[in-house]
Amino acid sequence: MKREDVQIESFTLDHTKVKAPYVRLISQEKGPKGDIVSNYDIRLTQPNEMFIPTAGMHTLEHLLALTLRPRLEGYLDCSPFGCRTGFHLLTFSSHSSHEVALALKSALEEIVNDIEWEDVPGTKEKECGNYRDHSLFCAKEYAKRVLQQGISDDPYVRHIV
Ligand SMILES: [Zn+2]
Repeated sequence: MKREDVQIESFTLDHTKVKAPYVRLISQEKGPKGDIVSNYDIRLTQPNEMFIPTAGMHTLEHLLALTLRPRLEGYLDCSPFGCRTGFHLLTFSSHSSHEVALALKSALEEIVNDIEWEDVPGTKEKECGNYRDHSLFCAKEYAKRVLQQGISDDPYVRHIV
């Protein structure tokens, strides 16, 4: 494949048209053995208007690995966007955006209400590539903000779950 032929769906999305927070199914890919992998856009803040500070983003990453995994069958990974407005979520099989939005809502509620510093996984020097750069306070503040605004299962229309 030539460079001209590479199409990256995330960059064709008009970031000025979306209304965060939302969950959007980006793509589904079928592997050679028939397994389906789904990729979701988990947008927590409005693009080009607000982003999450690195330490909060980092702690949210560690916490979503803990709280989202048990809520979504086939969970594979949830990794921060470089722009710090949200995360890519990868799962085996397909869940609707509605199901993912409900799981995310419940995971964020757990983070806001039940998580203490001792509960954050992987915060030791041995376990993380930048263990000094964490903020549970910041993670909780942005999780609260997302919950107050509500999570839409549609990127363009506010359809809050
Ligand atoms: Zn880390």
